[in-house]
Amino acid sequence: MAKANYDVIVVGAGFGGAPCAALLAKRGLHVLLLDKNARPGGKAMTLTKAGHTYTAWVVVSAPMIDNQFEKVLKELGMEDRVKLVAPGIQDTIYRTPSGAIKKLPRMEAGNMDPNIIFDWLDIEEADREEALKFLTDLTLMPPSDIDGLNDTSFEDFVRRYKVPRPLYAMLVSMMCDLMFMVPVDSLSAAEGVKSLQEIFLRSGGLFCRGGFGALAQVFCDGVRENGGKVSMRTRAEKILVEQGRVTGVVTDKGVFEAPLVISNAGIQPTVLKLVGEEHFDRSYVNYVKDMVPSVGMMGTRYFLNKKVIDVPYGVIFSDESPWNMERYQKAREGELPSQGVVFFEVPANYDPDAAPEGKQMVMTGYWCPPDPKMTDKEKKAWRDMGEKIMLAAYPDLARHIEYKESYTPAHVCRLTRDQVLPGQGGECIGLGQVLGQCARSKPSIQAPVRGLFCVGCDAGGYGVGTQQAVDSAMKTADAVLRYHRLHQAAR
Ligand SMILES: Cc1cc2nc3c(=O)[nH]c(=O)nc-3n(C[C@H](O)[C@H](O)[C@H](O)COP(=O)(O)OP(=O)(O)OC[C@H]3O[C@@H](n4cnc5c(N)ncnc54)[C@H](O)[C@@H]3O)c2cc1C
Repeated sequence: MAKANYDVIVVGAGFGGAPCAALLAKRGLHVLLLDKNARPGGKAMTLTKAGHTYTAWVVVSAPMIDNQFEKVLKELGMEDRVKLVAPGIQDTIYRTPSGAIKKLPRMEAGNMDPNIIFDWLDIEEADREEALKFLTDLTLMPPSDIDGLNDTSFEDFVRRYKVPRPLYAMLVSMMCDLMFMVPVDSLSAAEGVKSLQEIFLRSGGLFCRGGFGALAQVFCDGVRENGGKVSMRTRAEKILVEQGRVTGVVTDKGVFEAPLVISNAGIQPTVLKLVGEEHFDRSYVNYVKDMVPSVGMMGTRYFLNKKVIDVPYGVIFSDESPWNMERYQKAREGELPSQGVVFFEVPANYDPDAAPEGKQMVMTGYWCPPDPKMTDKEKKAWRDMGEKIMLAAYPDLARHIEYKESYTPAHVCRLTRDQVLPGQGGECIGLGQVLGQCARSKPSIQAPVRGLFCVGCDAGGYGVGTQQAVDSAMKTADAVLRYHRLHQAAR
């Protein structure tokens, strides 16, 4: 078997692993980055089909201004190697209680007149003052007050105000169905308020030309161009530990040695499978097993013979669509509601090279359990709900479908992490997204085995999905460099 020595091995080239590896290579460490897939990007990799290029599923990043991607690209000196785009328009569709479809009027960038939103949502004059107070408090809340919400759910925070139902539904749909993918009564108010502030003040709707996988590819190039090695199609089978310290990684391509291993494979697969429970004390193993996944997202890719939608992305919601734990539990038991939230993305509307001339691919995404072993019957029920909502808002779409295909948590699991516990593996964001497991309670990037770190959405990061993973990457790169230098100096 091949043997090679590195300062650090990074397992997984997702949005946690790839930027972390690139930053460490740039800072002078000899890095090996490996991933089991042929392409980097993990949950935000790029796929291609019949002349279409797209991120594998609906992935809309936020914030736009001062985003985490640009911070890493800047340190790598690679800002010009990829094009991040924020088209600034979207369709936000409110399905009224009578079933009417109402689109939020398009507002000029920077125009945040709340009355336009209140008119669109049919909010009574008498309720507007309180609604405005809620929005103002939320937008201007200082960091110390946000930190005080660490143990409060977003639901409990909102209940302090008399927020009209449509406004509540709009905000909760945005946060729970796209940003954090957890029920509103398990969403941390500290995370929710901070992220909403960022979107209000620093805008959202950020995409990457060529799909987000193109950005992950640049991070991999950053590893190579700074003297590191990237080994794709290389599956880590075991992280080696001797006398409480990591010594390397066993892969299907050979054994690689290093005193530091950073795993982007997920905290549960890392601890329970790649390293093995026997190397940790019982309390840490129990802590890791208790982490709950975010929900999953499934949806359909509609390949159309005509351009039907003119915005890059959008959302459809109603007063009934916000998820809480009780509603989600009932849905899992088969009582699926008729109203959920549907997000959609149209890559050709922000990337001119994304589709063949005159064609369009529209991708939907909506909640579902994260379980990769969902039955066909369960998948059909969730898919039918999502499709009905999408086609009610865009009836033209049905006439122009050349073919369609769906994606589910089984696809997400296959492309990203191994299932090691029942019901987990196909989660949309990762673990550590709920109250008590995120914000100040987020799992540490440093695991209790010497030289072992976890990177990605399960540990250390803050924010939404892709940018949370990159936030974790930057913090992990700092911590690992410090660890490396301290241990070199102490030798
Ligand atoms: C359907 C869906 C929709 C989403 N929508 C959004 C959105 O709108 N906005 C947003 O910001 N985020 C969104 N996300 C979430 C976002 O994509 C993820 O949170 C983020 O990309 C996770 O990054 P990560 O590095 O933590 O993990 P991952 O992306 O899971 O990366 C892990 C990497 O490790 C590799 N790996 C795992 N095990 C091994 C092994 N044994 N050996 C070698 N390699 C291994 C995997 O192949 C993968 O490349 C969405 C995700 C999904 C699934």
